Amino acid sequence: MANNLCECCDKNPSVAVASVAGMPMSIAWCRDCLEAGVSPYWALVANAISIDGMDHAADWFIAEVEHSLKYFKKTWAQFNEEVARGIKEMDEDLERMALMDKSE
Ligand SMILES: [Zn+2]
Repeated sequence: MANNLCECCDKNPSVAVASVAGMPMSIAWCRDCLEAGVSPYWALVANAISIDGMDHAADWFIAEVEHSLKYFKKTWAQFNEEVARGIKEMDEDLERMALMDKSE
């Protein structure tokens, strides 16, 4: 990272590189985020989109989101809205790809 900022909160200087819970990736973390044991907000949104919404979420993931939303001072309403928007965008991309297939 050029700016050495925590990739979780994007605010504090990072002190370590560690993995993100439930995701096959490592990012730079600051001490606060590591100690809080949260997941990056963007990773939670991406994860929720990949399982087609929180209706399909496992209990541990729901708890993880709840815990992290509190840390980032975000609400479930904000989170669900971003997830819904992401799923809609993904559906539109898939439709576009399906249309391209047919035109060949
Ligand atoms: Zn942080």
